[in-house]
Amino acid sequence: MKSSTLQNCSKCGLCLSVCPTYKVALLEHASPRARLQLIKYYENSELISSSGLKEIISKCLMCGACAAICPSGINHYSKFMEMRTKMAEDHGEKIAIKSLVYLLSSEFRIRFAAGFAKLGQRITPQIIFEKYDLGNIPLKRFPKLNKKPFRQAVAETSRSEAGEPEKGNRGNVLYFTGCATNYLFDKTGFATVNILKSMGYKVIIPEKQTCCGIPMLFHGAKDKAKKNILTNIKCLNPDSFNQDTVKAIIVDCPTCGSALKNEYPALQDDFSPETAEAASKISSKVIDIMSFILQESDSTNLAQSLENLKSDNLKHDSRVNQTNPENIEPQKIKVTYHLPCHLKNSLQSPGNSETILKNMPRLDYIRAVDADECCGGGGTFFYEYPEISKKMVKVKIINAKKTGARIWLTDCPVCRINLSGNLKESDKLTVKHPVEMIQL
Ligand code: SF4
Ligand code: SF4
Repeated sequence: MKSSTLQNCSKCGLCLSVCPTYKVALLEHASPRARLQLIKYYENSELISSSGLKEIISKCLMCGACAAICPSGINHYSKFMEMRTKMAEDHGEKIAIKSLVYLLSSEFRIRFAAGFAKLGQRITPQIIFEKYDLGNIPLKRFPKLNKKPFRQAVAETSRSEAGEPEKGNRGNVLYFTGCATNYLFDKTGFATVNILKSMGYKVIIPEKQTCCGIPMLFHGAKDKAKKNILTNIKCLNPDSFNQDTVKAIIVDCPTCGSALKNEYPALQDDFSPETAEAASKISSKVIDIMSFILQESDSTNLAQSLENLKSDNLKHDSRVNQTNPENIEPQKIKVTYHLPCHLKNSLQSPGNSETILKNMPRLDYIRAVDADECCGGGGTFFYEYPEISKKMVKVKIINAKKTGARIWLTDCPVCRINLSGNLKESDKLTVKHPVEMIQL
């Protein structure tokens, strides 16, 4: 992990070339280099804390691109997080952000709020959805909440066999679902479980898991985040499942993955030695679902290997067979892809989803010219800085439409909300997680 000090910044400017906020503003103070310099002056007591300083530090997507490219090995990410904590202590947070942090620090509250929001989606007059936006996203374009939280629904599907492998037995995998899959995108969760089962894994979804804590860490609420992190470390500790049998800890969200892989072990000084050890074991086993599929597939015949991954349940599903009763070769589906920043910069598995998409016989994958550019979603960035976020996502949409794709795939739920939320009906593009394509 990078840990070089701020003094080591040579001011080379490489980080400017990858910083999405700098590319939009083209102003030095919107760059990672300037943010680091300001932090340095502040730490040396040459700059006083102010709301202006807080604004400059906060107007960052926490995408990690600067840290990934920095030749001096500076960990911008951890510096920004520390500084955000200090700024939040000095100047407080917006009420909406405080409420979000309060909500996410208790699974009970998240569940209650999701239930309340679901009711709101049912009874609120359409005119309200038509009229109002949340950040840069019109309310009417927000995804519908799951009928039931995914973790509850999957357990009820077939109580004793929800996660049993379909054939063979290659061991156990733990599945950290994250809040988005649990409350918004259950199809991603079901696809992940079905694919893992058809690969021969028993899928264990620890019941007590909760929000990964990243939204709190990003908003300077480290103490609240720690409560969630300790809960997750306890329920994901591979030792509690007999370590040898836990092959991997699967995530479908790159941001949750980056929390488990990088941020939990980075907090080791705040933990007891046992907890720090568990955090490091968890970190070593975390992998995103698309990378896991690729890793476990036969690289000499990837296309066939991916075809074989269709869940046996799905192969025997009459609804699926009815769609092609005469076995006519179906038309290939045109798809394109958006690479989430945390997959590229934090989990460092940038090409895996694209490799799979390119090799799926039923897909016609067309790369957008800016497939790996940030979409401007950035956790709550789309809400806090809608004007910057809008500029970024607009360009992404133009380029995605140029590919002629019908489906736009991306692994990150916030990117998904941001991309989909800024599309119009007339764009005729649907945004999904790539894992959902394997089961088509
Ligand atoms: S890339 Fe690293 S060394 Fe270069 S300006 Fe940015 S922070 Fe400084
Ligand atoms: S984390 Fe991303 S948005 Fe923030 S300074 Fe670094 S490159 Fe720019």
